[in-house]
Amino acid sequence: MLGLMQSQPLLISSLIDFAERHHGSGEIVSRRVEGDLHRYTWSDAAKRSRQVAHALDGMNLLFSDRVATLAWNGYRHLELYFGVSGSGRVLHTINPRLHPDQIAWIANHAEDQVLCFDLTFLPLVQAVHARCPMIRQYVALCGPDKLPKDSGVPNLVSYEDWMGSQPTAYDWPSFDENSASSMCYTSGTTGNPKAALYSHRSTILHAYAAALPDVMCLSARDAVLPVVPMFHVNAWGIPYSAALTGCKLVFPGPAMDGKSIYELIETEKVTYAAGVPTVWQMLLGHMKPDNLRFSTLKRTVIGGSACPPAMITAFNDDYGVEVLHAWGMTEMSPLGTLCTLKNKHLGLSPEEKMKVRLKQGRAIYGVDMKVIGDDGNEQPWDGKSYGDLYVKGPWIVREYFKGEGGNPLVDGWFPTGDVATIDADGYMQITDRSKDVIKSGGEWISSIDVENIAVAHPAVAMAACIGMKHPKWDERPIVAVVKKPGAQVTREELLKFYEGKTAKWQIPDDVVFVEAIPLGATGKILKTRLRETLKDYRLPNT
Ligand code: AMP
Repeated sequence: MLGLMQSQPLLISSLIDFAERHHGSGEIVSRRVEGDLHRYTWSDAAKRSRQVAHALDGMNLLFSDRVATLAWNGYRHLELYFGVSGSGRVLHTINPRLHPDQIAWIANHAEDQVLCFDLTFLPLVQAVHARCPMIRQYVALCGPDKLPKDSGVPNLVSYEDWMGSQPTAYDWPSFDENSASSMCYTSGTTGNPKAALYSHRSTILHAYAAALPDVMCLSARDAVLPVVPMFHVNAWGIPYSAALTGCKLVFPGPAMDGKSIYELIETEKVTYAAGVPTVWQMLLGHMKPDNLRFSTLKRTVIGGSACPPAMITAFNDDYGVEVLHAWGMTEMSPLGTLCTLKNKHLGLSPEEKMKVRLKQGRAIYGVDMKVIGDDGNEQPWDGKSYGDLYVKGPWIVREYFKGEGGNPLVDGWFPTGDVATIDADGYMQITDRSKDVIKSGGEWISSIDVENIAVAHPAVAMAACIGMKHPKWDERPIVAVVKKPGAQVTREELLKFYEGKTAKWQIPDDVVFVEAIPLGATGKILKTRLRETLKDYRLPNT
């Protein structure tokens, strides 16, 4: 017997409809590329999202066609979130911090047909457009007065001209909730970047879960500042959860420095903020010297990299702000665990509570996890036994876009590439990473790419790249190099060799010349052994 409840597909358009109908006067504030603050409401955002849908229809874009963005967090980007996905197209948020070669590769792989970009990224667009033949429309996120003249970018129109005169009424189409809604490439794996392709269903379920009290705890009383970029796993799903709860949204635009973020928190009475540790490091660094205080901020969710204990203490003890340590990944939409206490922890001493808070946290309903040891068996939940962390759930990838990399699942579970323990209360803690990538300031650096460039130098016989702890960036890459017999090359020459071959921030911080690089039985570099050899090494200027 089937249930007799109404059947309605879970579609992203329903979120913006809801926000307009029930929270129409709720505010959305954005710092623009121009530097000023723009203000409007959920009702305005909904109208303009429908205008975006019309503009896409007018271009005869088909269902599931890809529309890309190279954009900061702001109201126009939000309109694209709802207008593109709501009308049945797929929103592809590109990370502008990647090298132009990678951006061109990703845009072609995704078969993007439209690219909407903030003016900050005009030089990037100028660098890639000739290599992206499938993009037939470039949309600069500005009004016609700011549209650059003689930019050399073909088929370029201003956003306001493109969508501004479209009707504000639109009937959102209804379709299968499993249809693709957005995509995000990750370099957090080996080989070429791979895309997680989210569906309407996975996005809505994630948005529901993210709003729960033990997750982001979002409500219509909150003013939320997503510092985490909208090009990083949909800003951790905050735009969707914000529409679902009707909270006020505050977008930082391009200004992520401590001073700008602090001013925005204070002037817009932000209660809740989300970002990677590096951003909060800059914020705290700005506040400390002048003994500045928060007047409204209550909670901040910190994830993307391990949150340093000192940061949790500083927010909590010095500023009375609760830190929620979160873990997830692009392949998980991204939320997997969040660290909030249980009832049984409330009576613990501050030190004991801190021990719990430092962990990456408990699984959110919808995410199941397990840890597999070296022997292939599931590890007990004892907080000590570690192994590879596997996850499954309705907002976790089954397969990458276009089947890249084959079937990633093992018996239906997704291998995260993280090494972790789980304790008896279900709190997961990351202890290491088995995937061959380094995370710096919330962005990935492929150690393989770093090694490949080094070995392309005529004096280099072998190279191995590892991540070293860094006080600001979490990790920074260094490269250990074995020179060819008789060959000469200096540290400076080798670092110079990287210039132009990779994004600047992906260039290693140092070169360490070694006699030999430890290899395993299969010829694979033993990075754990190399790390042990270099355990006394310190990064320059730290
Ligand atoms: P991304 O796909 O870029 O979101 O990166 C996901 C990866 O970032 C995870 O697999 C972890 O390696 C790392 N990561 C994310 N959050 C945390 C955290 N709270 N602590 C430690 N590592 C984290």
